[in-house]
Amino acid sequence: MALIVQKYGGSSVATTEKISRIAEKIVAEKRNGNRIVAVVSAMGKTTDNLIKLAKEIISEPPEKEMDILLSTGEMVTVALLCMAIEKLGEAAEGFPGYFAGIKTDSVHTKARIQTIEPARIIKELEKGNIVVIAGFQGLSPDSAITTLGRGGSDLTAVAVAAAVKADACDIYTDVDGVFTADPNLVPEAKPIPEISYDEMLEMASTGAKVMLSRAVEFAKRYNVPFSVKSTFGAGEGTMVKELAMKEGTDVSAVSLDAKQAKITVFRVPDKPGISSMLFTALGKENINVDVIVQNVSKDNFADISFTVNITDAEKTLKITKELGKEVMAENVVCDRDIAKISIIGIGMMNHPGVAGRMFHALGKERINIEMISTSEIKISCVIKKSDGAKALKTVHAEFIES
Ligand code: ASP
Ligand code: MG
Repeated sequence: MALIVQKYGGSSVATTEKISRIAEKIVAEKRNGNRIVAVVSAMGKTTDNLIKLAKEIISEPPEKEMDILLSTGEMVTVALLCMAIEKLGEAAEGFPGYFAGIKTDSVHTKARIQTIEPARIIKELEKGNIVVIAGFQGLSPDSAITTLGRGGSDLTAVAVAAAVKADACDIYTDVDGVFTADPNLVPEAKPIPEISYDEMLEMASTGAKVMLSRAVEFAKRYNVPFSVKSTFGAGEGTMVKELAMKEGTDVSAVSLDAKQAKITVFRVPDKPGISSMLFTALGKENINVDVIVQNVSKDNFADISFTVNITDAEKTLKITKELGKEVMAENVVCDRDIAKISIIGIGMMNHPGVAGRMFHALGKERINIEMISTSEIKISCVIKKSDGAKALKTVHAEFIES
């Protein structure tokens, strides 16, 4: 008898018909002799719609009330799924996050889980009940409802799996697992049977978002292996766990992030403190800076280029222009016509020449590389946005298809 935590995302519970089909899946698992805890998201676009409602009242809704509002989305799914399970003749017990013992800090709308007291979950399981928990929510130290940030149900699932010492944690979604590239852009992309936490984290940071990064970080920290599977498909999905190396593969996945912008500051004085001033100012505004390149200085002046998420481009340009003026930089420009192509793989560490192969694949398609950044398990190149799709195909062909 295994204890299984299953998480169903918003698209998997978007209609009552889908909720009924999930109930059948859960009941079948139960009748196979397993104990089930299901963590659920709000139905379809519910959370977006609730945010819209709040904004009809006030443009910047108070965060504490926002959490009360948003937490209702998941509760709807809990109630309906319990009804659907009971209709099939099994007993179900539904919990909001606060009855499931999920304690958070009091940072409303992006709370962090502090502890999980799973006694009640375990008691219900021992009674033979299927437990259904509302994802994405918890209780603050002053007993207020909190939510964990968009996509937070993934985190609930992984954290609950750790707390109840589950034998398996299955994240059900609308894709057949993690792919070697976005299958919408590369038809040759294949599902990856097994991937490490670190590769999964790098994939999220390079634009291939399958799961909330905070959930993957949590899984890594507490070593909670989990799998990403399709809710209604039959495939085995992708197992995410600690892997030291992968025999035979150098690159596990290729990803394209077309939502970046590049800011360049021309001719800043090449002296200590300038970069620190700029990037500290951006950090204070919560702007995540990605690839950074500073050229070799000429007559004590240097150019600095860096990329940010395109949604931060305007704000970044404004801050950088102000600082640029202060340090008498020659000019500050923003290029929105860029994309970042990345290869990811823990196998890279043991395979020299991977970077050369990537650059060669791009060069042969006459794709110009504007910036390069590397980590132990990732190489990213900033290129022109219009080259993005071609770059993804050619790099995927080079590493995965050959
Ligand atoms: N319903 C929340 C959201 O849409 C949480 C989740 O689905 O994970 O962000
Ligand atoms: Mg979701």
